[in-house]
Amino acid sequence: MRQFECGSMVPGCAWHTRADEDAEIVRRAVEHLKSAHGESVIRESTVDHIKERITDASETTPTA
Ligand SMILES: [Zn+2]
Repeated sequence: MRQFECGSMVPGCAWHTRADEDAEIVRRAVEHLKSAHGESVIRESTVDHIKERITDASETTPTA
């Protein structure tokens, strides 16, 4: 399981998401940036910043 906290990019934002796939996290984060932060255009650098901030949420997932 992977997770992303918007507050790591946008100080003060408490939104976060979890998913199995990084791609799904990026998709949700892009949607959130558009709807909550008024980002009409998501740049490739923004996607990179999202990816850099995705972390493992492994406390509920035993190591395979
Ligand atoms: Zn946010």
